[in-house]
Amino acid sequence: MLAVVFNGVGKGISLEEVHVPQVESLDGVLIRVRECGICGSDLAILEGRHPSKPPVILGHELSGEVVQVGAGVTSVSAGDHVVVDPNMSCGTCQNCRLGRRNMCSNMAEFGITRDGAFAELAVSPERFVYKIDPRLSWREGALVEPLSCVVHGLAKSRIKPDETAVVYGAGPMGLLWVSMLKRVGVRKIIAVDLAEKRRAAAEGLGADVTIDPANDEPVARVERETEGLGADVAVEMIGRAETVENAVRSVGSGGRVVIMGVARKDAISRVGPFDLMLKEVEIFGSNANSAGFIPAIRLIEAGAIPVDEIVSHELTIAEAQKGFDLCRSGQGMKVMLRPV
Ligand SMILES: [Zn+2]
Ligand SMILES: [Zn+2]
Repeated sequence: MLAVVFNGVGKGISLEEVHVPQVESLDGVLIRVRECGICGSDLAILEGRHPSKPPVILGHELSGEVVQVGAGVTSVSAGDHVVVDPNMSCGTCQNCRLGRRNMCSNMAEFGITRDGAFAELAVSPERFVYKIDPRLSWREGALVEPLSCVVHGLAKSRIKPDETAVVYGAGPMGLLWVSMLKRVGVRKIIAVDLAEKRRAAAEGLGADVTIDPANDEPVARVERETEGLGADVAVEMIGRAETVENAVRSVGSGGRVVIMGVARKDAISRVGPFDLMLKEVEIFGSNANSAGFIPAIRLIEAGAIPVDEIVSHELTIAEAQKGFDLCRSGQGMKVMLRPV
């Protein structure tokens, strides 16, 4: 079968003929991939900012159809429409046992450290496979994984409808944030992005204010837009030291800062401890999802996410390079790849 293989930092990706994966264990589920989104972390892997284990088939945001199951599988069967949680935690390390499976010490990451879904077929252990309503489109299914991460961050932010929020970065993840903040009924949603297309998309999804940081100093503008108080919640979806600093400076008293962007490992942000103390600001990371899959599936099934506003391209895996380029340039929003 054909698959998009990452060969190592500096070597990029290539379309290769590889062996068809097999259901080798009792709990194995073989899935025919129908659609799989390109994620910002795929770009980070190519650039060496995110660890992986090349050569590996990339792709971790999939939807597909079960083809075959191992003898011990009971929750899904051939023909079911499914999605896969790519964070394949071990279940036995201290973090897993303490309920922090997204920080598993022995994490196998589907499509990152083990073969993923930019391919015709993929295999996953049963416990990471979730059934979805067969009436959903494949692109809706493929948005479950990124949405599960936003669901996780949203819960951590403890945002309430009377509050205000600013989202730094209106790429696909930032747009999912805007959609969810709108759904929650947040009083004022502000989105910051350099790309006009992305600001327009954020407005389409319910952002009340968008800021172009090239023309408008975002922290001062957020202050003006929030009656001088600062935002209640700031979300950093870009992964840059400076935008983290801006996010921290954007919140007011009792503010919460959610860091979800993938920064370079050696990036350092400067924060003012006096202000943090005075304003009792909370800053926290949000890493993938721990129990976000079921909520994300329910939300997608309820039509909570305007999928067509977030998905900009559907290409075949043979066009993977083009898809990656569209993501990198900011020309594309969520770009989906399908095997044929
Ligand atoms: Zn991802
Ligand atoms: Zn573990």
